[in-house]
Formats: sequence, C-alpha cells, structure tokens
Amino acid sequence: MPTNSISDLVDECVQCAACLPSCPTYQATKNESYSPRGRLALIKAYVEGNLEDTSTWAASIDSCLSCGACEQACPPKVKYHEIFTKTRALRTQKKTYHLSPKQRLFSFILTHTWIKRGLGYVGSLLPQSCSSIVPKHHSLKNDYSVPASKKTIHLLVDCALGTFSPEVFDMAAFVLNTLGYSVKLIRLNGCCGGWWEHIGETEKQNKALSTLEQHLSGISGPLTLYTLTSGCHQFLLNHLSIPTESLYTLISQIWEETSSLPTLASIEGNYIFHTPCTNRDQKGAQAYIKVLQQIPALSISTLPPGCCGAGGAMSTAYPKLADSITQRRFSTRKLDTVITFNTSCRLQIEKVCHPMKVLEGIYPLAKSLGYPK
Ligand code: SF4
Ligand code: SF4
Repeated sequence: MPTNSISDLVDECVQCAACLPSCPTYQATKNESYSPRGRLALIKAYVEGNLEDTSTWAASIDSCLSCGACEQACPPKVKYHEIFTKTRALRTQKKTYHLSPKQRLFSFILTHTWIKRGLGYVGSLLPQSCSSIVPKHHSLKNDYSVPASKKTIHLLVDCALGTFSPEVFDMAAFVLNTLGYSVKLIRLNGCCGGWWEHIGETEKQNKALSTLEQHLSGISGPLTLYTLTSGCHQFLLNHLSIPTESLYTLISQIWEETSSLPTLASIEGNYIFHTPCTNRDQKGAQAYIKVLQQIPALSISTLPPGCCGAGGAMSTAYPKLADSITQRRFSTRKLDTVITFNTSCRLQIEKVCHPMKVLEGIYPLAKSLGYPK
C-alpha cells in the first residue's frame, strides 16, 4: 500500500472545519481528534512516520462510524472513505490493527456456520422480548416460485440479517410472490465481504467476493442481485462485477408500474423511518416509504439524516461512544416504532432504546398484504 497516495489524498483537506457539525463522534465528544479534520491530520502524521499506531491514536481513528456525513459536507470533497479504508488495510498489513474481542467473536462466528446454526436454535427458544439481538433459526426455502411468474428475483441472504432475522426473507418472498414474482434465495456460508472491509481484511474481503461471484456464475441469463440490507448493497455496488440493487427499490418500481395492485389491510401505528447512512444516496428508500404511506391507518414519517451509532465496525469496538450517539438521536424523541433497512442499525437501536420497537422495512408491507398466511 503506497503511503504517499494516502498522504496525497489527505492533502486535499483545506482544514475549513465545514465537516465538524455533521460528524456524530465529534458532536458526542467535542474532541477534535474524533472529528474528520482531526482524524485526517492523525492519519497523515502516521503514514508519514511522525506518529505511531498507539492505542490513543487508534481510538481516534477506529471510532469513526464510516457514516460518510463528512464527505457530504466537505466543500473540496475529500475522499474520506477511501483514505480510511486504505489506512486500515495498511495497518492490517503491518499487523498493527487489532480487533476488539467482539469483532474477533463475530469474525469467528461468520467463518463457522455450525456455530451460527447452533446459536440460532438456542436463540429461537428464547422469549421474543429477549431474543431480538441473538441469532435465530427460521427454516427458509431456496426457491419461492409462483405459477405464471413475471420474473425470478435473486435475493441475497446476507450474513447479519440471515443470522438475526431470517424470517425477513420469508416476508420478502411473500411480498414478491403476492406481486406475481418468483424468488430464489442466494445463500452463502459467510459474509459477502462487507464485514471484512470494515475491519481491514482485504484478502478475506476479496475471497468472499470471488466466492459470491462464482456462486452467481452458475445462474443462466441476465442477472441482478437484490439485497435487503443497505450496508451490503452499498458494499456490493462498489465491488461486485454483477449488477446489484436494493429490493426496496425494486418493490417501489413494481408498485409504480403495476396497474392492479393487491389490497393493503390497515395497520394502526405511528412509524418513523431511520435512513441508514449507507442508504443516503439511494432514492429507492424514499420511493419505498411512499409505498408504505399507502397502508391505511399507518402514519409514517422520516427522521432527519444522521448515524444511529452502528456505522462501520465502530460499535463493536467502542460500544459506550456508539450507545451515546444512539441515545442522542432517539431518546430525545417520542417514538413508537422505528423502521430501517439495515440490520446493524436495527440491532443497535433496539439494544439502546429497548422497549421501543424497531422493524425491518419489509415488515409493514408484508403484514399489510396478509403475512403470515
Ligand atoms: S465518517 Fe462519520 S464518524 Fe467518521 S469522521 Fe466522517 S462524519 Fe465523523
Ligand atoms: S470539510 Fe473537508 S476540507 Fe474542510 S476540514 Fe473537513 S475534511 Fe477538510
């Protein structure tokens, strides 16, 4: 990894401070070392050999949520994500980047399917109130075909959603079947590569991507891979050679183009939509919210942009800071039910804001269409 390229990228920062108000970690700590501008200065000093990768230095860098708010606010558009990813990969290469115990555990579970399955069976035995943040077992079919299908949709079973809420894939298949589409689930034994990118494991990331591409190469005809989790979608959009799209975007397109839509049953409730940082640029999210707004009796609005504290791998290394960011965003508001499109957002909000309900975005539509049959 050429360190001068990281240094050159950092040099694009003119230190104007326009990014500071939008940075959740700076807002929570008021410490410049936890701001985008401060982190860039620390990275530059490190790659130029003027600072060591000490625990204090690492805490500033690794507490970044990769939320991208700084990139959006930055007038010269400094490539923060690229700088951050390259720096992390460099540290992994130099063996100075150390995983937290939680990150090691998560990586271990990801690479050992039998543990994931075993935990899933245990989690399914727990009462619902305490089972939301433990793995769950749910029997999924590989193929959800309907007669006279308009098209077959290939839907990725991503590791986080597949581990913690596998029933969501059943719901998604139910919605698409109701709209006349067949669904085939693409099931991997591990992660698509996104988690490995978060923790700087470039080799494992590339291996996961090539496993997925190999798996998909067996499917004949033109292929688009659909995802339900916005973090995976964003990662695959940047790295996969096969077209990928959010399932929520697809559903909103189908909804717009179909003349005779199924009847929606009413759902009483006051829902608010938390847009995951990885969804910020995806117009499909807002289009899907418009679909949900057609559900009779359901009131649904959108929270202003902002990270929930679950961005990147930060909450698995600095949970106190992550939790304080979640508190700031949600506890000051009187909320009934939050919906979101990203499993790690859902788990983080659920953990901190319990007993507030947090649902995956497909849930209200599936329920309104009559799920479970
Ligand atoms: S990515 Fe988010 S948390 Fe990280 S420096 Fe930028 S605004 Fe702050
Ligand atoms: S807004 Fe951009 S140029 Fe200004 S301090 Fe932040 S990163 Fe640097």
